[in-house]
Amino acid sequence: MKGIVCPVCGKKGSLQVKYIKTTNGNEIPYYYVAHYELLKGKTRVVSWHYIGKNVPESIKKQTENEKEGE
Ligand SMILES: [Zn+2]
Repeated sequence: MKGIVCPVCGKKGSLQVKYIKTTNGNEIPYYYVAHYELLKGKTRVVSWHYIGKNVPESIKKQTENEKEGE
């Protein structure tokens, strides 16, 4: 799980990638940010923000910095 700042809403979330198969047989990555929010009680709600096929440079830098810190 990669913790990044969502480019859509500016909140912290985790970067997720899903590969979607096209009719041509190619696989295209679709990037999302998942926000896990705990509601009252024990219900955990996940809200998704769609980034797109390409990760913005600002997000890439965040994930690179995380690697360097390990
Ligand atoms: Zn968001």
